[in-house]
Amino acid sequence: MGFLQLNAIHKSFHREAKVLHNISLTIEEGEFFVLVGPSGSGKSTLLKIIAGLEKMDGGQILLNGERMDTRSPRERNLSMVFQNYALYPHLTVEDNILFGLKCKGLDQEQQQKRLQECITLLGLAPYSKRKPKELSGGQRQRVALARSIVSHAPLCLMDEPLSNLDAKLRAQMRIEIKQLQQTLGLTTIYVTHDQTEAMTMGDRIMVLHQGDIQQIGTPLELYNQPTNLFVAQFIGSPT
Ligand code: ADP
Ligand code: MG
Repeated sequence: MGFLQLNAIHKSFHREAKVLHNISLTIEEGEFFVLVGPSGSGKSTLLKIIAGLEKMDGGQILLNGERMDTRSPRERNLSMVFQNYALYPHLTVEDNILFGLKCKGLDQEQQQKRLQECITLLGLAPYSKRKPKELSGGQRQRVALARSIVSHAPLCLMDEPLSNLDAKLRAQMRIEIKQLQQTLGLTTIYVTHDQTEAMTMGDRIMVLHQGDIQQIGTPLELYNQPTNLFVAQFIGSPT
């Protein structure tokens, strides 16, 4: 039994062709699991299904062996970071992060402790009183990360969180996200269409193409033993 288990998930929108076929996989606690595939392959749909933001047509999701798909999004206790990490423009960095703690029932002192922890982890101290418009793209992205980890949710979902950043910043943030994940032992599902991100960040990678799992494995396995031509070409291993 893994930490998160997906059993035979499938989904189509209206009467259109299936977007996800029979997706089954297991993710272990503390794992950095990358979901990679070209645009339109179904990555965001799968992440939204896990988060409870999109309905599936069939299948099961288990967290620690218990059904999770029957719970509301809030009861799933996940944290999420998206590509357009909307921060509240009228709130300071601190208040944006604290927003992630609303409805957690923590007292003032516990909230402050969590806040300071995140500010330190993400190096946000010099900007903590600023508003989003006074921050660079990378700083805003760090605030979004802080807001997602402050809740100490056991599972973190990230959907192309770096795609709005320039190449240099992306490379730096890849390292930062990975360090943060390792420090906190966060179980993470990270969605990207970028092979470099997948190969450098993933403990394991799942390659998705047209709603079908092509392969699940470590970066080295995918590179050395791609199961088909699609994986080989997508990952860029010698064929
Ligand atoms: P990815 O994140 O890999 O780019 P998506 O999960 O966003 O892919 O989309 C997978 C497929 O499902 C695409 O063909 C997309 O057009 C379709 N799709 C996604 N969301 C909807 C929706 N709300 N209604 C209809 N079709 C959708
Ligand atoms: Mg997407």
